[in-house]
Amino acid sequence: MIPIFDTHAHLDLEPFSNDFDTVIQRLESGTLPVVLDELLEQPIEMTGVLLPGIDAQSSFRCAELAKRLPFFRAAAAIHPNYVVNATENDWKTVTELAHNDLVVAIGETGLDRHWDYTPIEQQIAALRQHIDLAVQTAKPIQIHCRDAWNDMLPILRRAVQEKKLTGIIHAFSGEPEQAMECIDLGFYLSFAGSVTYRNAKFSPLWESAKIVPADRLLIETDSPYMPPHPFRGKLKRNEPTLAVLVAHRLAELRGVTLKEIAETTTQNAKQLLW
Ligand SMILES: [Zn+2]
Repeated sequence: MIPIFDTHAHLDLEPFSNDFDTVIQRLESGTLPVVLDELLEQPIEMTGVLLPGIDAQSSFRCAELAKRLPFFRAAAAIHPNYVVNATENDWKTVTELAHNDLVVAIGETGLDRHWDYTPIEQQIAALRQHIDLAVQTAKPIQIHCRDAWNDMLPILRRAVQEKKLTGIIHAFSGEPEQAMECIDLGFYLSFAGSVTYRNAKFSPLWESAKIVPADRLLIETDSPYMPPHPFRGKLKRNEPTLAVLVAHRLAELRGVTLKEIAETTTQNAKQLLW
């Protein structure tokens, strides 16, 4: 068996609403949504899926979905792009959910200068609020960082120095230097479909994937987004079992077996989240 723990899948979003039971069945049996015989000499077993919230309603849906399978857990937060719309009541909902037993992390939160829907000052204030919530609940934080490393790293550094904070950098996209900074801060780095992409612009990310210590490595799909190679632009929707392709790519980059990456990342995720 190849154990697969997907630390980031938005299964509460619209692309999954029509056939969620089919997706559940595939996860229970470790069945891929596509045929990949040449890669998989052994069957997959899903060992965990973390469902991150992107706003109050989504966090609530994720906490409800987490009851559906024994290896589901949820995270609660307001995604930086949606902070601009969040009401006081939404913050109250997220704070309450953060104390729920099936909610094992605070996420996804972070900073996004790519879309910039929410003014950056407001994103930073929300990130700090999520950090406080993670500290209060003693749960890890799940960080989204897009084109915002220069803002992100000092905030995390200060939080780690002053408070007891740990967490995951979700869909890590940085260069080796940023990877090392995150490692120094005690964070886990979660790799997604982007590390499987073949364009040269991803080569700094491949280098990052080579240098992360094995005990800080995680994998994810970011479903329904970011289908891994060779399905980029070909699959309408990504699914958690396809995290096996991320594990496969990490194995290739690090010169170890798929099984080794799969086992290590499952072990790391369980240690951090369960
Ligand atoms: Zn996400």
